[in-house]
Amino acid sequence: MQADMTGGCLCGAVRYRCRGEPMSMGLCQCERCQRQSGSAFLIATVFAREAVSFESGELKTYAAYDADGSGLYRHFCPDCGSAVMITLDRYPGIRSMMGGTLDDKSRLKPTFSLWCSSAQPWLQLPSGIELFADYPDGLIA
Ligand SMILES: [Zn+2]
Ligand SMILES: [Zn+2]
Repeated sequence: MQADMTGGCLCGAVRYRCRGEPMSMGLCQCERCQRQSGSAFLIATVFAREAVSFESGELKTYAAYDADGSGLYRHFCPDCGSAVMITLDRYPGIRSMMGGTLDDKSRLKPTFSLWCSSAQPWLQLPSGIELFADYPDGLIA
């Protein structure tokens, strides 16, 4: 069995641990994730809610709501601003940990990308990554 995945924010105040393997790993190239990450995409490493535990630090939350009232919550370190986790009303049983906050980034193996319709034109993802123009129903990310 693989060691737990551990991670934390840039300043080190927030530390977390995820047990077991992630349920999925993908990229999101939506405009909002570009804005939050300050980059071309955000890396989502999805675990069951009960697999994730926080060992230190406090998170602040930025909430955004879809037209149907369903919330997407971006949890970040209030001291250094690192994006740490996303949670969704739509999938209350999961925690989407931001891949760039993992200690061992060699374990990042994204298999898909959401919102390629707003991808940066100079970004060419490897052929092993399945591309979706938007967020397909039923995909957990
Ligand atoms: Zn921090
Ligand atoms: Zn996104």
